[in-house]
Amino acid sequence: MKRTVNRLHSFNGLLLILVVLALPWCKSSSASLVGSNGNIKYEHQLTIILDDAHGNNVPGKCSPDLSHREWQWSQFYMMKLQEHLQSIGYTVIYNAPEETEPGLLVRVRRMNQVSSPAFVLSLHNNAAGMGDWMNAQGYSVWTTKGITRSDSCATILFNNLRLFIPDLKFRRDLTDGDPDYESNFTVLMSKHPSVLLEFMFQDNIEDLQLIENPQLCMTLLFIIDVSMLQIENYLVPKNQNQ
Ligand SMILES: [Zn+2]
Repeated sequence: MKRTVNRLHSFNGLLLILVVLALPWCKSSSASLVGSNGNIKYEHQLTIILDDAHGNNVPGKCSPDLSHREWQWSQFYMMKLQEHLQSIGYTVIYNAPEETEPGLLVRVRRMNQVSSPAFVLSLHNNAAGMGDWMNAQGYSVWTTKGITRSDSCATILFNNLRLFIPDLKFRRDLTDGDPDYESNFTVLMSKHPSVLLEFMFQDNIEDLQLIENPQLCMTLLFIIDVSMLQIENYLVPKNQNQ
């Protein structure tokens, strides 16, 4: 038994040496294993700004039967996502922690106060009508107009949603060569790459059941976690890793 443990220790030691030796040739990860003082550690470079949906004083933004409030759902799962991301070492800025709406321009001003590299994720539920039950269904991802780094980030999230939850209904716009929709929503207009996820329609009865399904929503958070690792690899240039 002891010999096995010793063998394991020497194997781990060997692995560590190999990792250190291999580092100069494998800088593709955006999270570094070696700090500036040579200590072994693992840390992320990308700051993640979580922007929840609306405030409790914004009219509408609920299901027709008033059972679902978009701001409450978004805040609940964004706070859980913040815990996820912080637990794996990300610096996370919760952009609008108050329950009342601080104002869209205030949200953007707060985002712009965060140093780069940073990424903004906004989490919403979609709506097709003005208070009646509607037929539109599915999730969609949104970026500002034009081709920017946000488009690639949106594609990462969209592809992961398709991959991990293939039977969930989605909406996409392929006219400009990628699956995201484009609109200059104010919360997407900060200096950082930004993606807004409209997770299902709160005024569709089937979608609302999915929005209110905790198992699905927790799965969504894990998909966002994985997407953040990929987005970080894309956004943080290799030569800034160490
Ligand atoms: Zn919304």
